Amino acid sequence: MNFKKYIRDINDFPKKGIVYKDISPLLGNSEAMKAAADALVENIKDQKIDKVVGIESRGFFMATLLAERLGAGFVPIRKPGKLPYKTFTESYDLEYGTDQLEIHQDAILPGERVILHDDVLATGGTAEAAVKLIKKLGGELIESNFLIELEFLKGREKIKTSPVQSLMKF
Ligand code: 5GP
Repeated sequence: MNFKKYIRDINDFPKKGIVYKDISPLLGNSEAMKAAADALVENIKDQKIDKVVGIESRGFFMATLLAERLGAGFVPIRKPGKLPYKTFTESYDLEYGTDQLEIHQDAILPGERVILHDDVLATGGTAEAAVKLIKKLGGELIESNFLIELEFLKGREKIKTSPVQSLMKF
């Protein structure tokens, strides 16, 4: 399937000069969404996977579909203050300033086999912080996967200690 036709470019969002990749058309098309989830699990579907970790918020949509296909549980990584139980926190750099991500301390057991998913890999700062949280809990990261990779930002470099897969490269 030509997944790229379901991705819409939005100019100057969220601020001037940025071309934002909008995944809404893909999510809104049942065949495209199903095919995207099938394609993302294709190379790992015969492996034992315990948890699929999704990054707030657009990572959640596909991560639950991947978890269902892999027979795994779903784990959310969220912005600070959103998770109700005890958390671990990791900071990461933004263009201006820093931000943080959190995970529940009991979300992954030591040795569990984990897939990380987000919608877009850009500079890789977000994914790198998520990888640190997974490793802090003792999870074994089998793969990080993304619908979209913005290759020119070289985010892959930050998380290349384990395999990285993306469905569409721009
Ligand atoms: P990074 O930390 O890799 O620079 O940015 C990745 C994060 O920002 C992801 O959580 C992703 O959802 C969001 N993001 C960055 N650029 C885009 C974009 O063009 N489209 C969408 N949908 N999300 C983006």
